[in-house]
Amino acid sequence: MISLEKAQRLILERVSPLGSEMVSLYEARSRFTFEAALARVDLPVFDNSAMDGYALRVADQAVFGSEGQTGLEVIGEIPAGKELDTQILPGTCVRIFTGSILPAGADAVIMQEDVDTQEVEGGLRVWIRDTVKPWENVRFQGEEIRKGQEICEKGVQLTPARLALLSHAGVDRIRVSRKLKVGILATGEELVEPGQELARGQIYESNRLAYASLLEQCGAEPEIFPIVPDNLDSTCQTLESALSQCDWILTSGGVSVGDHDYVKEAVEKLGGKTAFWKIRMKPGKPFAMGEFLGGQLWFGAPGNPVSGMVGFHLLVAPAVRKSLGVKNPLPRWISGSLAANIQNPGNRRHFVRGVMNEKGMIQPLKGQASHRLSSISEAQALIDVPAESSLTTGDSIRFCFLPETL
Ligand code: AMP
Ligand code: MG
Repeated sequence: MISLEKAQRLILERVSPLGSEMVSLYEARSRFTFEAALARVDLPVFDNSAMDGYALRVADQAVFGSEGQTGLEVIGEIPAGKELDTQILPGTCVRIFTGSILPAGADAVIMQEDVDTQEVEGGLRVWIRDTVKPWENVRFQGEEIRKGQEICEKGVQLTPARLALLSHAGVDRIRVSRKLKVGILATGEELVEPGQELARGQIYESNRLAYASLLEQCGAEPEIFPIVPDNLDSTCQTLESALSQCDWILTSGGVSVGDHDYVKEAVEKLGGKTAFWKIRMKPGKPFAMGEFLGGQLWFGAPGNPVSGMVGFHLLVAPAVRKSLGVKNPLPRWISGSLAANIQNPGNRRHFVRGVMNEKGMIQPLKGQASHRLSSISEAQALIDVPAESSLTTGDSIRFCFLPETL
């Protein structure tokens, strides 16, 4: 048995970055940047108004704009997307809207809520109720971003907000990492596709769906293979077909010490070399990893659904993230405080599924056995409980969020 950290090291040192492709921003949703992106324009693009109101000269408020004076003459209107072809001269102002170009001569915008207006001799006049300071409610060209400035690093996921920023800054295509294709195999004589009748002793298969979804979440493309019965020939056959179509292989089950566990043997028969098997952790101990000639990686997750998923978060997801160029691909451990007592008398570190309560404390969930999907389906976090430890409410703990957000 090796430590989790050693297993992560053995995995990450075998992961190399993928190639890249140029795609439109629409196709780039949730993908990972392969290079940094630069702004094509200043943001804001031009000096503009932050409010619906009137663009004016600050000096005019004392001369024309106070109660009892003539008022400022409204000489025009600038709807969004249009420009005024005259200057604002002393005693005049312009009706303006949020995002409209600030007209020449104006040095502030007053909110429409802060003025009184009246029709005088066929024209509209404005009196200022509140004072306006120079450049109030004006957004300056380039104050947020300068043309040519880096606006997105390499090796980050294109989240909705990052995509919006890129699009706003005039980027329409971007170089992203190629998609990592991961073949998913589930082994087990007892497994049946949902939708069919169960014979006695059979169970519905669920790990492939969990892995497909987890892989998509961390930026890879899953390829699902048919359920593999527990014999060496079928395991070799499906594995061979997956190797011919995918970058990496993720198998479920068949890596324990049972008489019907053929996955490691099949991997080795096809030229794969096991890098490790068994990690000093719970759940997820019988986790294996290996490499085929040519660098295709194999992750052998245990069949128990919770063990497999915990193993995925701690071992497979970091590998996927590294291949996509993420700088710090390992789970981020955060210190928190425990909301209940936990005992771990065993000699393996326990990753306990928990949720964050309203006080920000981490509450372990009931039902931690490695076959129980209900607790992991509620879980928001994995709590790292050291071997042979006894923790009490309020103790400081390390946890990571599920799933990892980047
Ligand atoms: P194994 O690692 O093959 O010994 O499987 C361990 C346990 O997980 C057994 O109880 C299996 O029935 C169950 N199991 C294995 N594979 C799956 C799967 N793909 N979906 C749901 N349960 C599974
Ligand atoms: Mg099995």
